[in-house]
Amino acid sequence: MKNIIDLHIHSTASDGSLTPTEIVHRASRLGISTIAITDHDTLDGLEEGELAAQKYGIEFIRGCEVSTRHGIYDVHVIGLWIPKDLENHSEFMDAIQSLQEKRGRRNNRIIEKLQGLGISITMEDVKKLAGGDVVGRPHFAQFLKNIGLVRSVKEAFDEYLARDKKAYEPRKAITPHDAVQLFAKIGATVVLAHPALMPCSIEELDGLLKELIPLGLNALEAYHSSHSHKDERFLVELAAKHNLLLSGGSDFHGKSKPQIELGRGKGGLRVPSFLLERMKAARGCD
Ligand code: AMP
Ligand code: FE
Ligand code: FE
Ligand code: ZN
Repeated sequence: MKNIIDLHIHSTASDGSLTPTEIVHRASRLGISTIAITDHDTLDGLEEGELAAQKYGIEFIRGCEVSTRHGIYDVHVIGLWIPKDLENHSEFMDAIQSLQEKRGRRNNRIIEKLQGLGISITMEDVKKLAGGDVVGRPHFAQFLKNIGLVRSVKEAFDEYLARDKKAYEPRKAITPHDAVQLFAKIGATVVLAHPALMPCSIEELDGLLKELIPLGLNALEAYHSSHSHKDERFLVELAAKHNLLLSGGSDFHGKSKPQIELGRGKGGLRVPSFLLERMKAARGCD
């Protein structure tokens, strides 16, 4: 049987609904051999995930996903194989802390906007839903659903939380260039996440890659729940053209994205395990 791998997963440490331990249990039940937990702006779930994975005989890769802004586009960057000991990497830890602070300020402004719309909501309400320290828009969405204001998380985004909607607030973002360098400096494998979700032209994507590769970008996430087979083929070719590695994962979040399953995405996702072997070979692992 082919190995099932999933290198893009969110836990309760950010905006997923399962704890790292629950993710490992689910991965084990689904016959997944390798997982990477890649929470937004935090490393908080990694220790728990790694311990649980050891017990279940699942290979665990320490990851993290960072949202950045490139002009008018949101660009997500993932670091894989984040080292355990970051004591000598204060620049990276400071950057993570600063991202969380910017997120916190943005969250306060979302609360104010929702309150301004007459909705009874406090930061405490949302924190309770978050489980971990990183509160994200999916938690706001869950709250709005729980109080019956909207019927689904999607509706909450469509009406309130998505870009330019009633309670949208941008946050001060770093550039993809900064994110790539931060991950590269700590020795992580640096992946451009779900490139097909960026609504930019092929030329713009190509141009961005030419800027990010010299800074340390290593791979393209060609396989992702939101990518069509056509997207996959295009990105595999683009990676080959730029001599980049490939990565892939479901972007599992649990109940805020119920249609996405661990390791299988929306149904048709198959992340080829050869890409993991290639990434390891490039890192000099056996
Ligand atoms: P944040 O990092 O707090 O701005 O929240 C971003 C997260 O919200 C993304 O990683 C997705 O998990 C989720 N998200 C963004 N847009 C939507 C949407 N339209 N519907 C559902 N979830 C979304
Ligand atoms: Fe998310
Ligand atoms: Fe993302
Ligand atoms: Zn993600």
